[in-house]
Amino acid sequence: MKYKLIFLFLLFTCLGFQSSKKAPLSARIANYDIQVKLDVEQKKLIAHTKLIWKNPSADTVSDLQFHLYYNAFKNSESTFFNERGLPALFKTSLQEDCNWSWVEIQNMTDNYGNDLAANMHYIQPDDDNKSDQTVLRVPLPRPVLPNETIEVEFDWIGKIPKTMIRTGYNKDFYFMAQWYPKVGVYEPAGMRYAEKGGWNCHQYHSSGEYYGEFGNYKVAMTVPENYVVGSSGTQPNTPKNNGDQTTTWNFEVDDVIDFAWGASPHFVENKMNWKGIEIRLLTYPEHVHFKERYFSILPQALEFFEENFEKYPYPSLTIIAPPFHGIYTGGMEYPTLITTLNSCLLPTGVRSTEILTVHEFVHQYFQQIVATNEMEEAWMDEGITNFYEGVIMDKIYGEKSSTIDFMGIKTGNAESDRVSYFNMENPAIAPNSLNSWEFPGGSYHTIQYSKSAVWLNTLKRIVGEKTFKEAMKTYYSRWKFKHPSAKDFVDVINEVVAKNHPEEFGEGMDWFFQQVLYGTEICDYAVSSISNNNKITSSGIFDNLDECEKSELVKNEKGEEIFISNVVVQRLGNMTLPMEILVRFEDGKEIIEKWDGMATMTTFSYEGSQKIECAEIDPQHKIFLDKNLLNNSFTSKPNLSGVRKYVNEFMFWMQNAMEGLGMLI
Ligand SMILES: [Zn+2]
Repeated sequence: MKYKLIFLFLLFTCLGFQSSKKAPLSARIANYDIQVKLDVEQKKLIAHTKLIWKNPSADTVSDLQFHLYYNAFKNSESTFFNERGLPALFKTSLQEDCNWSWVEIQNMTDNYGNDLAANMHYIQPDDDNKSDQTVLRVPLPRPVLPNETIEVEFDWIGKIPKTMIRTGYNKDFYFMAQWYPKVGVYEPAGMRYAEKGGWNCHQYHSSGEYYGEFGNYKVAMTVPENYVVGSSGTQPNTPKNNGDQTTTWNFEVDDVIDFAWGASPHFVENKMNWKGIEIRLLTYPEHVHFKERYFSILPQALEFFEENFEKYPYPSLTIIAPPFHGIYTGGMEYPTLITTLNSCLLPTGVRSTEILTVHEFVHQYFQQIVATNEMEEAWMDEGITNFYEGVIMDKIYGEKSSTIDFMGIKTGNAESDRVSYFNMENPAIAPNSLNSWEFPGGSYHTIQYSKSAVWLNTLKRIVGEKTFKEAMKTYYSRWKFKHPSAKDFVDVINEVVAKNHPEEFGEGMDWFFQQVLYGTEICDYAVSSISNNNKITSSGIFDNLDECEKSELVKNEKGEEIFISNVVVQRLGNMTLPMEILVRFEDGKEIIEKWDGMATMTTFSYEGSQKIECAEIDPQHKIFLDKNLLNNSFTSKPNLSGVRKYVNEFMFWMQNAMEGLGMLI
């Protein structure tokens, strides 16, 4: 073993991590060199890792902390299974046949020759659950000095789960996500919410996926010779047959926060090139005909981001479309690699394939490049991603038909988020700002994905598309290849809004974020009544009992009757937003009233020869967060907006039903 370690050390010193000639895009804190053998008989990964970790702080760091994600599937009392329950399908296999999965580090040394394995131990920073072994602490006999680099090497074995969520095998399909011992993120004082430097290395929970540090990866996978490998990164050379019925595939990628790969003897490969970016699609034979759909939608998504943010910075993007029996691994995002889902029976008008492809691609920008902490602030990747999924899908397919356009049924993507949020039994159940594992009643998904997309859409409409675009681009440029917090996001939005609209919004939008991001307020404004009454003179007895004045219609100099007209608006929810109210008179004249939206009820009064014909609150439809559109206008003519809402709700449930059907086939 010693000999092997020395040999590897010399080899990597020569080849090194410095071979990349491209200027670094990130700080390259956590750099991996992994050789892994896929044992398809034992369903195991047998591997060796060399990690080069740079201390990004002015602290002396006396330990390393690693995620051991596969240990979430090691026993029935893990935090992951406590939160999610054992999967019904695999209960017998786990409980009676003992098919648990795990990852075990067998030894570990640093570049000073110290044995690090002797004192390593599991910790449970989130819940103190001693049965959870998903975080490993490795004390360092020789601490890492400020800005110094340490090299550690270790052999490890991973027992691969039968497809759990995101990762595992089924039959001879393998998807290796969150598969290797992965160092946490060391947050120096001042980064995100850190008051002093320390590890941010959460246990593996049922909700929330990962938070990773940037670095370079070189991974060599040895697989059976008939297997095809799809992976993060690009291949520096062609796969090498080892002469023992195995082949070794090499992949490399720089400046990423994670690394995933998949393998199967049945993968069919298709490639296309878009502006120098190699797009590689791996599907099962029965799904090859989906190729055109992927190769049509992905360039449009790439183009959108090039126009609105910056060009996709990596040389490759790989799509793995799992077979039906690998369905639990579909719909995931890893750097330069996405997984999707498709079903042969889904017609082209049901755009699940396109939606998933766009969604997972958007994550390349919002989580892989702007590397937020999904365990603590999942809305920053899932919410922003869902929002841009809606923007891109609505732009390409039209906002009324971007999710389904099939047999006369049409529904839009952004609208689906609105319907999903307001169809919750209690949309005020939780704010966006909770840790991922703290959401009550299964509300994580709808609050983090849908609600945040709805309030981002509202923010865009309130500050205007131009300012919103500028703010998001500034946020991206400032925080790419770094780890922003929600506060950093809010600061950028406030800065750009205050610059572009100093009169209108003053210091910025804190009043908005306090409610939509940190609060649970519900927005519902309504026009509750319109009245038009003739103005009449006063009547009755005033000074003299013998003189009774009778009321008369008041008329203007043209002899026209004068009306006292009122519009009553109400705030039915507890969210307060500035509102505009359009008031239209019978002669076509329109007035826009501005209201701070604070009172529960306000009346706007007018006097003149024209009656009010109708009034509408939020006439420009800025407030996408408004729960009930049915009550937004008041008119003598029939109001169809409410009908539209119920049609949309129907469409949403149809979509869910069809996607559910898709899962079963
Ligand atoms: Zn997502």
